[in-house]
Amino acid sequence: MPTPYQSPISPGRSWYEDTAGPRPEYPALDGSTSADVVVVGGGFTGLSAAAHLAKAGTNVVLIDAHRFGDGASGRNGGQLGTGQRGSLDEYEAEVGWERAKALFDLAEEAKAHLLEFASVNNIEIDFIPGQLSVAHKQRYVDDYRQYADYLRERAGYRHISFMDREETAWRVGSTRYFGGTRDLGTGHIHPLKLVVGTARVAAAAGAKLHERTKALKVRNRGTKVIVETPGGTITADKGFIATNAYNDGLEPESTAHIMPIGSFIGATVPLGADSPVLPGGESVDDSRFVVRYFRKSRDGRLLFGGREIYAVSDPKDIPAAIRRQISEVYPALKDIEITHGWGGYVGITAPRKPFVREVMPNVISAGGFSGHGVMLSNFVGKLYAETVAGNRNRLKLFEDLKVPAFPGGGRFRSILLFLALNWFALRDRI
Ligand SMILES: Cc1cc2nc3c(=O)[nH]c(=O)nc-3n(C[C@H](O)[C@H](O)[C@H](O)COP(=O)(O)OP(=O)(O)OC[C@H]3O[C@@H](n4cnc5c(N)ncnc54)[C@H](O)[C@@H]3O)c2cc1C
Repeated sequence: MPTPYQSPISPGRSWYEDTAGPRPEYPALDGSTSADVVVVGGGFTGLSAAAHLAKAGTNVVLIDAHRFGDGASGRNGGQLGTGQRGSLDEYEAEVGWERAKALFDLAEEAKAHLLEFASVNNIEIDFIPGQLSVAHKQRYVDDYRQYADYLRERAGYRHISFMDREETAWRVGSTRYFGGTRDLGTGHIHPLKLVVGTARVAAAAGAKLHERTKALKVRNRGTKVIVETPGGTITADKGFIATNAYNDGLEPESTAHIMPIGSFIGATVPLGADSPVLPGGESVDDSRFVVRYFRKSRDGRLLFGGREIYAVSDPKDIPAAIRRQISEVYPALKDIEITHGWGGYVGITAPRKPFVREVMPNVISAGGFSGHGVMLSNFVGKLYAETVAGNRNRLKLFEDLKVPAFPGGGRFRSILLFLALNWFALRDRI
C-alpha cells in the first residue's frame, strides 16, 4: 500500500484527508510564464481569489509550495461563526455603528456566499446548521445573554437565542458549561471538501494552478510583479499574497503582522446514535481564551479541537492531549478511541482582526483571520477579485482596520507572545 500523504507543514494526518474523496494533483510550475494576476498560497483565500478572478475572465496563475489545503484551510474546525472575530459591540465602540454594521453585514454575506458558492458549483461540503457558544465560567453567562439581546435588537439578527444552564447541558450533552447562546444562522462544514471543490472550480474557469511550487521571492520590476520559483519566474500586473500563518518570511510585512499559533484536533470513533453528545448537531465554541471547539461529523464522530497550553513546539502525542480535554467536558468518553490527531497554524493578528494591506506596489496581502477565517478568508478572496475588476470599496473596509505589527522582532516576538498567551491560558483556569 502506498504511504498516505502527509502535509509537510502541518502535523498529523487529518480525518478530513481520509474522507474528502478524490484530491486531484496539480503540476508544479515548469518554465517561466506571465499572467494578469499571480496568487501565492492555495488555501481558502488564494483559491477563492483564483476562482473568482478566472470566472471574471482574468488570466490568473496560482502557486502553492505544497498541496492545496495543507495549511489551515484543509485542516480546521470547519465552524463558520457569525460576524467578525470580535463582537459587534466591540467594533461599534471602536469604529462607530455604521462601519461596525457594514463589517457585520459583510460577514453575513460571506456566510451566505460560501454556502451558495458550494451549492451552485456542486461542492458537497457536509454543511450542518447550528452553533452553540458556551460559558465555561459562571461569570461569563450574563455577557452571553446581553450579547444575544444586543444582536437581536440592535443588529436585527434573529437567529440567536440565550440558553440557560439546563438547556446548555442538554444541547451540549454535558453539565460542564453554565449557559450560552444558540445560533441557528450558521453552522459547520468539511473544510477539505471545500478546498478541493474550489480548486476544481478555479481550474475549470481557466486559472492555472500549480502545487509544489514555492515562491522564493516576491518583488517589483517597473510596474510588474515578479514571483520567483524553482521552476521559473511568474511576471504579472498584480500579485495577491495568501500565505497567512505559513508566510515564513516570504514577505516581511505579512510576517510582522500575522503570528502562527498551533491548534490541534482529534477525531473519535463514531459515538453511536444513542449518544447524548450534541443531539442537535450544532458545533460548539467556549469562552476560554484558549478556545475549545468541537462538533460531530456527519458519521457521528466527535471532532474536538483546542490545546492545553501555548508551547513553542507541537505536542508529541496529539490524541492523548485531546483525549484529556474531551474527558473534562465528557467524562464518559475518557477512554474513547481517537482515530486521528492533527494540527495546523492559525494566523492571528494582535487585535484579532484580519490583516489586508497593499504591501508593495500592486501586491495585496491578506490573512490573520484569527481563528475566524473559514467564511472570511473565502470572502476576502472574492473581494480581492472585485478589487482587480475595479471596485475596491468592500476590500477597503478590511484594509482600513487598525492592525499594528506584533511588538519585537524574530525570536523575541515569539517569546513575548508565548508569555502573553500562557498568561491568558492560566486566566482561563481561575
Ligand atoms: C486547527 C485549526 C482549526 C481552525 N478552526 C477554525 C474554525 O473552526 N473556524 C474558522 O473560521 N477558522 C478556523 N481556523 C482558521 C482557518 O482555517 C483559517 O483562517 C483559513 O483556513 C485561512 O486560509 P488561508 O488560505 O488564508 O491560509 P492557509 O489555508 O493556511 O493557506 C496558506 C497557504 O500558503 C502556502 N504557502 C506558504 N508559503 C508559501 C510560499 N512561499 N509559496 C507558495 N505557497 C506558500 C501554504 O502551503 C498554504 O497552503 C482554524 C485553523 C486551524 C489551523
